[in-house]
Amino acid sequence: MLFGRTQKNPIKIADKGVVEWKYAACGYCSTGCSIEVGLNEDGKPVASRGVADADVNRGKLCLKGIFEHELFDSDGRGTEPLIRDQWHQHWQSTDWKSALDRTHDEIKRLQEKYGRDSFAIISTGQMMTEEFYTLGKLTRGLIGTNNYDGNTTLCMASAVSGYRRSFGSDGPPGCYEDFEHTDCLFAWGSNLPEQHPIIYWRMKEAQEKRGFPLVVIDPRVTMLAQNANKHLAITPGTDVVLMNAMMHVIFDLGLEDRRYIERNTNGIAELELEVENYNPVMAAKITGIDEDTIRSVAKLYATAEASMSIWTMGINQSTHGTDGVVGINNLSLITGNIGKPGGTSHSITGQCNAMGTREWSSCSGLPNYRYLENAGDRKEIAEFWGIDEAFLPKKRGMYQTDIYHAIETGQVKGLWLIATNPMSSLPDTARVRKAMESLEFCVVQDCYQDTESAQYAHVFLPAGAWAEKEGVMTNTERRVNLVKAISAPPGQARPDLWIFNQMAKRFNTTGKVRFPDKAADIFLEMTELSKGRLADISGMDHELIEKHRGIQWPYTQEQVKNGESPPAGGTRLYTEEATFSHPDGKAKLIPLPFVDNNEVPDEKYPFWLNTGRLIEHWHGRSKTGKIGYNNKYSPVPFIEINPDTAKELGIHRGEYVRLVSKRSDAVVMAMPTQRIGSNAVFLPFHFHDCANRLTLGLLDHYSRQPAYKQSAVRIEPIADQKEAAKLSMQMRAF
Ligand code: SF4
Repeated sequence: MLFGRTQKNPIKIADKGVVEWKYAACGYCSTGCSIEVGLNEDGKPVASRGVADADVNRGKLCLKGIFEHELFDSDGRGTEPLIRDQWHQHWQSTDWKSALDRTHDEIKRLQEKYGRDSFAIISTGQMMTEEFYTLGKLTRGLIGTNNYDGNTTLCMASAVSGYRRSFGSDGPPGCYEDFEHTDCLFAWGSNLPEQHPIIYWRMKEAQEKRGFPLVVIDPRVTMLAQNANKHLAITPGTDVVLMNAMMHVIFDLGLEDRRYIERNTNGIAELELEVENYNPVMAAKITGIDEDTIRSVAKLYATAEASMSIWTMGINQSTHGTDGVVGINNLSLITGNIGKPGGTSHSITGQCNAMGTREWSSCSGLPNYRYLENAGDRKEIAEFWGIDEAFLPKKRGMYQTDIYHAIETGQVKGLWLIATNPMSSLPDTARVRKAMESLEFCVVQDCYQDTESAQYAHVFLPAGAWAEKEGVMTNTERRVNLVKAISAPPGQARPDLWIFNQMAKRFNTTGKVRFPDKAADIFLEMTELSKGRLADISGMDHELIEKHRGIQWPYTQEQVKNGESPPAGGTRLYTEEATFSHPDGKAKLIPLPFVDNNEVPDEKYPFWLNTGRLIEHWHGRSKTGKIGYNNKYSPVPFIEINPDTAKELGIHRGEYVRLVSKRSDAVVMAMPTQRIGSNAVFLPFHFHDCANRLTLGLLDHYSRQPAYKQSAVRIEPIADQKEAAKLSMQMRAF
């Protein structure tokens, strides 16, 4: 409708003078969009566009991708190595040799004095897979600390441990094409339109064609919930009770798939016994979802021809995140919804290469889902790398969240942070700050020099960002995609791979371990290690990956020999009977007794605090906070607060308020909205010295992932709004 006008204004696209487009995969979220960056005749990146023949995004990009070229010359980049004796001194410029020598010498000194594990290494989900693999080889094979972890622990660790418990291995089994086949979609704690906009577009397009019902389980009326057929506004932290009650109904009505259960699973008797305890009447009292709704959604799920579950942080970031994942897997398994088109249990991953680190970093074990606990795996990798098998530990060391506790108690004395910013991303900032201050030695390797965590470093190593480097990343549907080097890192900054290889030279004194210089060669080394495994990539190389705009694993050497081209999409795991990764090929059905150990609201702290992401920002805003078109949509830390709550507390739209938890306080702007219930507030976690000053972050037993989404706060009006505005400004200094 043109409302009185007879013709549309023609759309004009500004001519940026692009003379060449270069290919990459987007470096923000795990959707894995193929992107091209346009360079002008001076070689400067000036535009971004989606790649039309890429199956994932089919020419589209979201708000972050469309401005991604702007990050190359954003403020705060590290351009030279820096060094200082004490973290509170001013930085001194130095050269690469001095910075790397000092780092090597300090690691050696600490390990000789306090033991190998006194030095910890924590990385990210943002690097290329070849960089993760190389860091893993350096850490496990040469440095030899067992306290090595990545940001998976803050993001997808519960999905990893849930998949391992149920299926015997990590690896999301479904794919985006499942949206085109499903007859029923359950989204558990996942807000696709804001967190994974292009996956949302794929889902929405499929739903509009086929009209399958969408059920959203989320305490908030998220954008996805607004589009749902049924929104279950669950009491935070009680998803396992809902899952158990749904299974209770399914068994009660005989809607389970007995044939599938018998051929593919173990543990049905124990599971049935446990869910007996969760009838919908008692579950309604705990979850806040009425019993009839529980019955009807259980029937809907079990009677659909193909049912699909997706989830994100609403499940993972919980004290029982792993149980939540196992519960979703249980539901899929008892109804035979694994490995078939439209029937799956699929985690939607966080960072652009969170999957790459899960597969290849060796953080939780050894490359390609091998385990330190498995003698055969240790032997195989030691021989392949050319190291002494006895040098590898026999079980994994501490998770990231436990490493900080070990810094507090003096077990860990030194830390190498790589493209991660715990001062912003870990719960209970005050506790993390104290731990960082106590380190004898800290080296920060990052493309941004102005991160909060770099304040506590003794050495700063400036790294290349995203497409200043070359390598692959794996997305949420196990698609390996290529990032090509589009621009050179600024000043003396170098790709992370170069930094790892330079460090490896200092530890590789016998020269026995091979560290190839080029990402493409490292990838070929990885393909060798993947042969015959679940994540088999032996049919791929960089060139083929670019040609096909990303290839899903598995894609094997056998398929290449048989003349099979990589399919455009639609590759699934566990499509054959009894092919799960447990020794007998069967999946495990695991009973899930519910233990409520969260912090819950009380008289003094009467509101739930829920934290999460916004579409325009990425994690700690080190990138998007400096890109005008992203930052302008949400420049200020704010809370969603129910209008009734705001009225009751005398708070008006746009006023600053103080949130107070048992840990600390934070100043935020109040934005009344019906999206949030009257017993809760929602606070985006992107801002420095804000959300994580408040969060408690109790840990999941299996994954050690923090419960970022379940804390309790009170809300205090602020009389002096000018002072509050000044404070809010300071909180945006990073
Ligand atoms: Fe990048 Fe994710 Fe947006 Fe795609 S949806 S453009 S991968 S941030």
